[in-house]
Formats: sequence, structure tokens, C-alpha cells
Amino acid sequence: MAWGDSPGHECGIFGIYAPHEDVARLTFFGLYALQHRGQESAGIAVSDGRRIHLHKEMGLVAQVFNEEKLRPLKGYIAIGHTRYSTTGSSKLQNAQPFVVESVLGPLAVGHNGNLTNAPQLRRELLTRGVGLISSSDSEVITQMLAGGEGRTWEEKLRVFMIRAEGAYCLTVMTRDTLYAVRDPWGLHPLCYGHLGNGGWVVASESCALATIGATLERELAPGEIMAFDERGPRTIAHSPAPQRAMCLFEYIYFARPDSIVDGQTLHAARVAAGRELAREAPADADIVIPVPDSAVPAAIGYAQESGIPYQEGLIKNRYIGRTFIQPDDRLRKLGVQLKFNPLSDSLAGKRVVLVDDSIVRGNTSGPIVRLLRDAGAVEVHMRVSSPPIKHPCFLGVDMATYPELIAHRLTLPEIRDHLGVDSLAYLSLEGLIRATGNSGKGFCNGCFTGNYPVDVHLLEKEAFEG
Ligand code: AMP
Repeated sequence: MAWGDSPGHECGIFGIYAPHEDVARLTFFGLYALQHRGQESAGIAVSDGRRIHLHKEMGLVAQVFNEEKLRPLKGYIAIGHTRYSTTGSSKLQNAQPFVVESVLGPLAVGHNGNLTNAPQLRRELLTRGVGLISSSDSEVITQMLAGGEGRTWEEKLRVFMIRAEGAYCLTVMTRDTLYAVRDPWGLHPLCYGHLGNGGWVVASESCALATIGATLERELAPGEIMAFDERGPRTIAHSPAPQRAMCLFEYIYFARPDSIVDGQTLHAARVAAGRELAREAPADADIVIPVPDSAVPAAIGYAQESGIPYQEGLIKNRYIGRTFIQPDDRLRKLGVQLKFNPLSDSLAGKRVVLVDDSIVRGNTSGPIVRLLRDAGAVEVHMRVSSPPIKHPCFLGVDMATYPELIAHRLTLPEIRDHLGVDSLAYLSLEGLIRATGNSGKGFCNGCFTGNYPVDVHLLEKEAFEG
């Protein structure tokens, strides 16, 4: 399997246990708030205590669901899922939640992350005669749970965690219980909160809790399994890895700025990264502008620290979607023009600091720089609020293969020339970690350093082939 067909994915997951609520409707709004984590497919599964009802389709949350589709989803527990696009795997078979029947009754699973030993686990299942319908590691998880060792769901979950390696945040729904699971490294965020009327909510990010009026209780600890049922929430296992390894890319780009991770909003962390960047890489310029929307906080921080005025220089068409999800490079390049228009009033005759949160393939920045120059900018100094991305992610962020990553192929001066900027600087890893305000807590920095918290040896070989 080429890496391009890999089951790797980023996703948004949501779960709710609320006997007094229309759980499908609340899940819809929860998923709506998590739409940035996945735009390829959406699904909701609901348990009424006896059976699990499911609807999932390709498309955005609001395209997949309407009143008619929500109506049959009656019950008191629900899980929902939004899935990110990865080239070659945009298929309905890979859409989640996965629902199967087992000896212990129906089971539904939503997964965010990427198991690094999925190929091995997959082979084991197939050898045991378990048929699989997708290329998704999430289906592997579902089948491992359904047919795995253990007399209870709790035992099965524990056994699964011993076997699984890599990134997994899970919502698991049985007939009468909602479980939430975070991998021992705490690679991706997962939190829970309450509705105030006996209802409990689990979500990838706290923004989904706020959207439906739930109060954040806390983040799940790395290696924690929680159960939510008529007895309320409880931790049924806690087996963290020796060192936490939270994904730094969630901090930089992926999670929504109003979400709370490690006790602070990501907006605050991104402003702090912009400040660090201004200290590390000052520029002689007239204005600071962000690549909207994700780099707005970092540009604010850069402006605050440097004293150079913050301005909007690019207007983004909010309805076009992320350029990144276009299927090939040619469309991606076109996408930049579809997505941004320059504000010539702000730019004409100006020396501009252009702040972006990351350069991945390097397809976006070059065309943006040309737009700025065409609109009259006399100098463009690019500042990036993360270190150069030199390695792919094998742990749940759909980033690119080695040959696609510009910082893997080119040196800093070469990237500068390729983008056509007057100067280019990236934030250091130390500066980024300082900006999180949680230096002691442990982060996965694999995409910057190639040091991953788990063994990615086999997947790495494939990624070199592109
Ligand atoms: P590029 O360098 O052309 O691959 O694109 C980098 C731009 O895409 C930056 O403006 C980022 O904010 C954004 N970006 C970075 N990583 C991702 C990702 N995993 N998914 C979607 N957009 C991303």
C-alpha cells in the first residue's frame, strides 16, 4: 500500500450520554464545531438501549445531515465523527463511526489518530478470518474490540490498549455505555464536560462542548479510559506512557484557537508563538499581516512584540474550504487564487512581514507572495510560527510524504528563493515549546526532528517513496 493510500487521518470525535436530550441533534452541533478537523465525511450513531442506529455519508456535516436524516436517530447515547481527506482513501467505506454486532451486543467506534502497528494488527485479524471492508485502521480497532479477549467491554478496551501502538482518541458506544479512550502518549486532544442535567459530553476539542452549552470538566489523561453511564462518569483505567507526547501541530495549526489545551486557549499559545518569533527573527518593515485565518494569532503576537502595526492584507473567501483538501498539486496551486484576495490599500508601497503558522509543501506561500507584490508590496519578509517541517506525520496529522515536504528537499536559502521572499525565518523548536507554556509536559515533535515517540520504522520507509 503506497503511503498515499494509507488509512492515516485526522478527525473530530464527539460522544454524548444524555438521557434527557435529543442526542443526535446535539451531536450534529458538536460535529459542526469540529468541522475543521475533518471535511471528508461525517457520521452519527445513536443507541436507544437496545439497538444502534447509524447514518454516515461523504461530505460536510451540514451536507450529510438534515432533519429527515436526524429523525430516525433516536436514543440517549450518541457518538459522531468527522473525517479528514487523505488522498486515495476518500471512500464511504472509510467513513465513521464503524458499527458492528458482537457477542456483547452492538458496538460503535469513532477514532481520531493513526495506529502505527495497524498493518500487523490487520494481518492478525485477517488470519483469524475476520473480514474487513475498508483500508481504515479504525475498522481494525472496531474489530479488535468486537472480537477481542475479555468478558466485558472494559476488559476488551484494556486488552486493546496493550496491543495498540500510535495515536488513538476513541469514542466507543455500546448498547448502554459511552467510553472515551486516549492513547498512552496523549498524542491528540480529548476532553469531557457536563450538560448540567445528568448529561455528559466527550469531544476532541473543548470548542464542541462550548457550542452545545456543556461545561468543560477536564482533558482526559494520556492512557485514560473513561466510562459514562447511569452511574455517571468514571475512570476505569489509567496507563500512561513514561513520557507524554502531545502533538505540537495541534498547537500550531490544527485545533481551533478557542479550544483549551493544557489549561489555556490555543489562541493564547499562538499569540505567544508570534511573540517568540518576533524576538528570534525581527524584521525591518511597515506592517505585519497574517495568512488568514490560522496565522492571525501568531501575527498579532509578532506585531505586539515588534511594535510593527498589525494589518489585514489578505481577505479570505471563507466558503471555499481549506486549499489543502484539494486533491492534487495543480488544483492546490489554483486554490490559492480562489481563496485569497489582496487588499491593495494596505499593501501598496509597504514593507510587509507575512506571518504564517506553517509551511508544509510550500505550494501556498509562493502564490501568496506574488499576490502581495502584485498589490504593491515592496518587500515581503516571511515569518513562520513553527520550525521547518522535515518529516511526515505517522501519528494522525495528514501532512505529506518526504518528497512533498519542501523543508525536506530544500535548504532555508533555497526555500526563500523558491517562495520569492526578501527574507525568511522559522520559529525554533525551543521557542515553540516555550510558547505552549508547558515545556515540562512532553510533546511529539516528530515532524520537525524525525524523533517520534513510537516506532514508525515501517511507515517511514513507505513515506520516502512518496
Ligand atoms: P503548503 O505549505 O502549501 O502545504 O500549505 C501550508 C498552509 O496550509 C499554511 O498556511 C497552513 O496554515 C496550512 N496547513 C498546514 N498544515 C495543514 C494541514 N495539515 N491541513 C490543512 N492545512 C494545513
